[in-house]
Amino acid sequence: MTVDATGRTSVPGVWAAGNVTNPMGQVIIAASAGSMSAAMINADLIEAEIAEKLAP
Ligand SMILES: Cc1cc2nc3c(=O)[nH]c(=O)nc-3n(C[C@H](O)[C@H](O)[C@H](O)COP(=O)(O)OP(=O)(O)OC[C@H]3O[C@@H](n4cnc5c(N)ncnc54)[C@H](O)[C@@H]3O)c2cc1C
Repeated sequence: MTVDATGRTSVPGVWAAGNVTNPMGQVIIAASAGSMSAAMINADLIEAEIAEKLAP
């Protein structure tokens, strides 16, 4: 499994943040990554909802 800078993994619907992606990080790094991933998950869900509504 790979993970990008936003926490999106190569497995659809699975996100990762914190020490699992960066073992050198401390609490503040893990919290920051988790917060960024949460925003990206929200954007992803909105995009999926819009695509669903616009589907013929
Ligand atoms: C000894 C030590 C001292 C540290 N001191 C500091 C410090 O002073 N300041 C600082 O900022 N950072 C410190 N750190 C680092 C800090 O603890 C981590 O950066 C931080 O906890 C990472 O948060 P996380 O949410 O990524 O992972 P974690 O806090 O490790 O959380 C992961 C959670 O997932 C759970 N889990 C694992 N596998 C599964 C599974 N299969 N199913 C369900 N749950 C699962 C685990 O039980 C755990 O609760 C220290 C680390 C260690 C080891």
